[in-house]
Amino acid sequence: MKLPRFEYEAPETVAEAVELLAEHLDEASVLAGGQSLIPLLALRLARPAVLIDINGIAELSGVSAADGWVAIGAMTREYVAEESGIVTDTVPLLAAALPLVGHEAIRSRGTIGGSLAHADPAAELPAVALALDAEFVVCGPSGERVVPAAEWFEGYLTTSRRPDELLVQVRFPAAGRGTGISFQEVARRHGDFAIVGLAASLGFSDGAISDARLAFAGISDVPVRAVHAEDLLAGERPSAGLFEEAARRATDDIDPPADTHGSSDYRKKVAAALVRRGLRAAADNAYERQ
Ligand SMILES: Cc1cc2nc3c(=O)[nH]c(=O)nc-3n(C[C@H](O)[C@H](O)[C@H](O)COP(=O)(O)OP(=O)(O)OC[C@H]3O[C@@H](n4cnc5c(N)ncnc54)[C@H](O)[C@@H]3O)c2cc1C
Repeated sequence: MKLPRFEYEAPETVAEAVELLAEHLDEASVLAGGQSLIPLLALRLARPAVLIDINGIAELSGVSAADGWVAIGAMTREYVAEESGIVTDTVPLLAAALPLVGHEAIRSRGTIGGSLAHADPAAELPAVALALDAEFVVCGPSGERVVPAAEWFEGYLTTSRRPDELLVQVRFPAAGRGTGISFQEVARRHGDFAIVGLAASLGFSDGAISDARLAFAGISDVPVRAVHAEDLLAGERPSAGLFEEAARRATDDIDPPADTHGSSDYRKKVAAALVRRGLRAAADNAYERQ
């Protein structure tokens, strides 16, 4: 289908992009990799008057590590992050999730910032960002502000980014030595959005779990942290019984949506299975990462 008519702007700096956003506010859409936005335009589910194409803003791309954090520019392509040695070595949970995002052709255009700004609740990267307490750096007319992941995802395809702000960078904390990770999902085919997904990260101290992080994709209109299970796991030694109880606590009070891919009850059962699998895998690979 042909796209609807819109004005097209191609700023070359963040300052120019922010000026355009401040001028057009809700009338504007930012174009990153276009892998979600272009289909929305074609289907007339989005009708912006102005498209602000940020592909020419070189300062928005790149991966760097400093002071225990890995900073990823919003326009960094998903496949560039996937191929990054810094991401593999330092944010292994993100490295595990990236190959599950669509197919290579999609990841070669799709961007880290685009996925996180789009905030699809079934997407992999929002669950990773929430599990790891990533930080979102947005730039508006009065400068930059940093939004914690817990305050970023507000609802279905909705974030706390204001209309005059551009997402410029996402920061992930570097994983400590001996951190075990796993990204688990059930999807109809490889490359599809998850029916349910789970980001899991376990830190250890003297053989006991010192830091447990679990975040679901696909069970609500936003990614969801399994806090009751995290509280249970902290201070305990890994065991099948512990992981079984964690799966129960993680899913006791969830009420996933039903759709053509599965009923609410099916999603709940899948979520519990992913917790058991994810925790087992994370506990196993923690020892490999000593
Ligand atoms: C066939 C197919 C399969 C896919 N499968 C998956 C999958 O399994 N898992 C998954 O997670 N994703 C999947 N995707 C989506 C893919 O990951 C997209 O790359 C991603 O959702 C959007 O990134 P983008 O860079 O293409 O953003 P765009 O499509 O350009 O933009 C998406 C939205 O974010 C906004 N936006 C983008 N960048 C910024 C910014 N810097 N600041 C403010 N707003 C911004 C845009 O205005 C738009 O509203 C799939 C896509 C396709 C076409």
